[in-house]
Amino acid sequence: MGGEGMRIIVCIKQVPDVGEVRFDPERKTVIREGGRNIVNPFDRRSVTQAVELVERYGGEVVVMTMGPPQAEEALWECLAMGADRAVHVCDRALAGSDTLVTARVLARAIERVMPDFDIVFCGKYAIDAETGQVGPEVAELLGVPIVCGLTSIEEVEPGRVLRGYRETDEGQELVEVRLPAVVTAAERLIRPRKVKEAEVVEARGKPIERMGVEALGLSAEEVGGLGSPTVVEELRIAAPTREVRFLEASDGKRAAEQLLTLIRQQLEASKREMREEVGVGPVRSSGPEVWVTVERGAEGIRSVSLELLGEAARLADRLRGQACAVVFGKVMEAETRELGERGADRIYVLEHERVKGDEVSHWGGALAEAIRLRSPVAVLCPATAEGREYAPRAAARLGVGLTGDCVGLEVDGDGRIVQLKPAFGGSIVAAIVTRTQPVMATVRPGIFALPRRENGRRAVVHSLRLSEVKEMGVRVLERRVEVEPKWGDLERARIVIGVGAGIGSAEALPMIEEVARRLGAALGATRKVVDLGWLPRQRQIGITGKAIGPEVYLAVAVRGNLNHAVGIQRAGCVIAINADPQAEIFRYADYGLVADYRTVLVSLLQVLEQEGG
Ligand SMILES: Cc1cc2nc3c(=O)[nH]c(=O)nc-3n(C[C@H](O)[C@H](O)[C@H](O)COP(=O)(O)OP(=O)(O)OC[C@H]3O[C@@H](n4cnc5c(N)ncnc54)[C@H](O)[C@@H]3O)c2cc1C
Repeated sequence: MGGEGMRIIVCIKQVPDVGEVRFDPERKTVIREGGRNIVNPFDRRSVTQAVELVERYGGEVVVMTMGPPQAEEALWECLAMGADRAVHVCDRALAGSDTLVTARVLARAIERVMPDFDIVFCGKYAIDAETGQVGPEVAELLGVPIVCGLTSIEEVEPGRVLRGYRETDEGQELVEVRLPAVVTAAERLIRPRKVKEAEVVEARGKPIERMGVEALGLSAEEVGGLGSPTVVEELRIAAPTREVRFLEASDGKRAAEQLLTLIRQQLEASKREMREEVGVGPVRSSGPEVWVTVERGAEGIRSVSLELLGEAARLADRLRGQACAVVFGKVMEAETRELGERGADRIYVLEHERVKGDEVSHWGGALAEAIRLRSPVAVLCPATAEGREYAPRAAARLGVGLTGDCVGLEVDGDGRIVQLKPAFGGSIVAAIVTRTQPVMATVRPGIFALPRRENGRRAVVHSLRLSEVKEMGVRVLERRVEVEPKWGDLERARIVIGVGAGIGSAEALPMIEEVARRLGAALGATRKVVDLGWLPRQRQIGITGKAIGPEVYLAVAVRGNLNHAVGIQRAGCVIAINADPQAEIFRYADYGLVADYRTVLVSLLQVLEQEGG
């Protein structure tokens, strides 16, 4: 699109250093000790990659942010990293903007500043809010394709195409995307450039263009809290549902024996089937529609779509409406049968030559057109790599709100669907309502129970012939599945041991792995452990990791705030070992051991070894 070289915009966000953010439950405010702000880590990778491309092909890198006056510091840092100039969209009217408004503002600014861009880089998500929605929404508003979670750039033909790998839930894909395009940077994309304080000071000499909403042709009513379709109605303190019983832990050996007896009793008594499956009731044939998008994996329909169908059936009962499954492209007889038996009253098959079941780039447009045709009241999408791309695209096309990573859905007294989302590092839950229709939300796998299959329950199948699906110019050239059999299967194991940063170092892992092996347990971790590189990201449990439902979850030196705890709410029995009697994990545990984890696990290992187990 551009002339000489590559013309690149990088959208960045200044974020609080999340490790320092705490929530004051009394005053319901955020406490930022020291108030240190940083450039969102994914954005640092974007800037580095953009600068490197321009060093190779020539051209220009513009960094852009929408944020308060102090966000200028973040722009200086990016200029020091090698960006040529910066744009700061700063206006009081922008306070309280949700992702859609943020994307609208950024898209407008991009059109003003560099309408002939080749690439717009965004981070995969910002570490404070973790929605990951702004990138896909910007792409939709600019009318260009997107590649989310880019892990490497293999080849660029300036003005034509970019080829690179992107992350998927199962591994990676080599994709080719037509330029201009938006790409979002994953952690592995590139090592971010480090800059020295003196370089940042020097970079202040580079140009920063400042603009307010008026300069973008937007009014104060269209932006900020006023213009945002999603509204935080209420902040609630996370309410634990378990009551902890502490076990005597002064003697390591005795503690280990008690622990083992407890685990075995739990396995014996567990009624897994009953806990996992909910009923869906008879077929409903009229009333408002609650939609669920159907995704497929290697083994057929993904469980998360079925879990959402169960939840849609529950909401449909409350709203006197219907639960509907939405399938992209052809549907097989076995699939329609399963969807009907798991709670769908209707199945919509989205038909268009470009809409195929295994390529996500056209799903956003297809979903938006289908929503326009049928006007559902709610649309629930899995928060998978795919769902995080097509749901925001569809929302942006329709101009409606989207709440990412919900952990619960409620119908209030006025019949509104309230979306529950953890906030502020997980110490509270935000209750969000949407001013626009449909209510759109994404939900992580494992949050809701799987609906029971009711033999013979049949859904009505409708074909929706679509006409507006635009060619996106994304081709998948290769798919790589990266399986990791070591550490067991988090989603299927009867026992999961979750390790927290309190284990001290990665050197403690072999002993814990041995305990896990002897117990037949899978190994999971907190985000901090993953961030420290002690275990891979696929092992993370929690709001931005996996939600699991083992019969026994053993939390070892895990602090246990809500961001982690939402990942274990379906666990049968939670046992926590923590040296601190005040640790939050005990609020989410059935049994607690206040002890040094080493004493307990070393003794446990000895007992298991003696048993030859
Ligand atoms: C937007 C956002 C999303 C997030 N998503 C997730 C997520 O999906 N999953 C997740 O896990 N986190 C997530 N987090 C991070 C989360 O908020 C916590 O920071 C993190 O879970 C804490 O990790 P930790 O328990 O390993 O470490 P720490 O907070 O360091 O806690 C270590 C614990 O170990 C205990 N301990 C120390 N030594 C010992 C010992 N010798 N024996 C026994 N106990 C000991 C300590 O008492 C402490 O409780 C998210 C944060 C944000 C901001």
